[in-house]
Amino acid sequence: MTLALEVEEVFAVGGVLSRAADQFMPRSGQTEMALAVARAIEGAYPLVVEASTGVGKTFSYLVPALLSGERVLLSTATKALQDQLFGRDLPRLVEALGLPVQTALLKGRASYLCLHRMEMARQEAYLPDGVSVRALARIEEWSKVTRTGDLAELPGLDERSPMIPLVTSTRENCLGGTCPRFKACHVNLARRDAMAADVVVINHHLFFADLAVRESGVAELLPSVRIAIFDEAHQLNETGVQFLGTNLTTAQLLDFARDMLATGLQLARGLVDWQEVVSAVEHAARELRLCAGKQYPGTKLRWVGECPEGLNTVEWKSALEAVYASCEQACAALDTVSEIAPDFGRLHERAMELAGRSHSFVNACQPGCVRWADVGTQLRLVESPLDISKAMKSKVLSTAGDSAKSWIFTSATLGDDDKLSWFTQPCGLEHAEVLRVGSPFDYQRQAAVYVPQGFPKPGDAAHTVQVAASAARWSRQLGGRTMVLTTTLRALRAIGDSLREAFLNSADMEILVQGAMPKRLLIERFREGSASGGKGCVLVASASFWEGIDVPGDALQLVIIDKLPFPPPNDPLAEARAKLLEAQGRSSFNDYFLPEAAVALKQGAGRLIRRESDEGILVVCDSRLATMGYGRRLLRALPPMKRLMSEDELMERLQALTRTCTRDCLQT
Ligand code: SF4
Repeated sequence: MTLALEVEEVFAVGGVLSRAADQFMPRSGQTEMALAVARAIEGAYPLVVEASTGVGKTFSYLVPALLSGERVLLSTATKALQDQLFGRDLPRLVEALGLPVQTALLKGRASYLCLHRMEMARQEAYLPDGVSVRALARIEEWSKVTRTGDLAELPGLDERSPMIPLVTSTRENCLGGTCPRFKACHVNLARRDAMAADVVVINHHLFFADLAVRESGVAELLPSVRIAIFDEAHQLNETGVQFLGTNLTTAQLLDFARDMLATGLQLARGLVDWQEVVSAVEHAARELRLCAGKQYPGTKLRWVGECPEGLNTVEWKSALEAVYASCEQACAALDTVSEIAPDFGRLHERAMELAGRSHSFVNACQPGCVRWADVGTQLRLVESPLDISKAMKSKVLSTAGDSAKSWIFTSATLGDDDKLSWFTQPCGLEHAEVLRVGSPFDYQRQAAVYVPQGFPKPGDAAHTVQVAASAARWSRQLGGRTMVLTTTLRALRAIGDSLREAFLNSADMEILVQGAMPKRLLIERFREGSASGGKGCVLVASASFWEGIDVPGDALQLVIIDKLPFPPPNDPLAEARAKLLEAQGRSSFNDYFLPEAAVALKQGAGRLIRRESDEGILVVCDSRLATMGYGRRLLRALPPMKRLMSEDELMERLQALTRTCTRDCLQT
């Protein structure tokens, strides 16, 4: 029997999935995608699938991949999604299909406890504070019982804890084969498990990090894998460019200096004047940061000529050269003690690498790349390729190994044209087979979209004021259940402050603003809303909240988007991509800015309807959507929702949603 026929049987009425789960309902889109994946596996060719919300794409790729009996590499966007796939979807399906499949989860080394560094941390005389001392004691207790060493399994550990860098390793400070804890090392055990497994779940960061430096074992795994699946593939390009370029941060230099001082004083006190060598690196790092001056946090300085825009060339070059010289000096010092302990060998390699990177930034930018400086408390120098197409073609799609491979890429949003060019072009997948699977939701009935007229222009300061005032009015009508998505952090703060003021001392409304508490807690509180007699919630958020947030049911029925999410025109990467298109005789607006906005808008709108029973309204407070010619293209990218033409219609629909919710709440 062919793989496609086997897959069809599994998804059919009365098939394995129906028998395994009462709630399973065969959906034509899900089966269509599963069959396309099965054909791509049998034919060993690349397939790109845009599967809209509600299709159930996870089962669509897992079923054919598992039934094929081949070795599978599965990559998703975040560690949380990795845990969900590995801990929930994969075991459920393996059990339902009754297959003897060995699965493994592989994360980056920063996720695993480093036994050697934990012991070093215990011996270090100073720890940042009492909280860290207690956190270390908990980690030590847990280290005695954990099998995986994955810190995500340690309950209550704050992911921002200053202890984490002290008890995890980096490629630079890991001792590798010379480590006294090598045999029991969690990083190595995870890699060994991955090498022996039939299905390995990784994340895109790890995939590209390994492609860049071949460190975590993914590159070794790749030739033996016959099927590679990338879920949440819309993030591949942006994740990839972060790893395929070069970067140097003042934080890396300061971390290196701190590790060198601790190791030097512990293992080779008196043999080198460690204070002097370390001070030189620290001083050079601080001077480099000072060169960038005071900037608004998150500022990106273009770097087209010899130094980032607005900075003094002579000062900049001399500061960069001082960084290079201090790393060279550290190399020389570490060389003299390299025989004493393996730690010094690794520190020496780190010093060489930092010296190499600082030297590369003294020289001109590589052709086909763009440079900039990110200025915050620390300074980050970046040289990035414009996209991942070259690396994908040369390092990924060509890694056929002994047999041809199937590459499957999928996400709910991969572009706004039938060729999915927004995704396929920068990823080097122009020749891949493309499939778009529509959502099973009845958007005309379940959802409506409203574009208010008469708002100030999006660039006007009064625009944000009006968005905030309208959001207060609309969310009051709905009793919360509203998410306001902003395109900038400035608008996030302004709208958040304004809504807090509007509902100050309110007995029935709580305003949740991104950054006020960890993202996970913020979403948990928002999901709960007024369900257990609490206050209704309005969540104001930006950036990462535009995608991946799943709030099904009545807790979210109104999504307000402040402006069309065009990439910031002064972003150095966006600017370089636009320039390249213009140089090729193409339109940067039609071929870059517009598709980017369409995909982001679709992502934001995708927060609204998550289930067949959900109902809601999307409001986009940007009149360009209704008045400009390109607005039609952007509206077409959205699901086919009913269009509301006036605020009266909006208020009526909000009232209807309020009535439905009150009735349902009374019934439950
Ligand atoms: S081998 Fe590296 S990661 Fe493993 S325990 Fe040793 S130093 Fe830590």
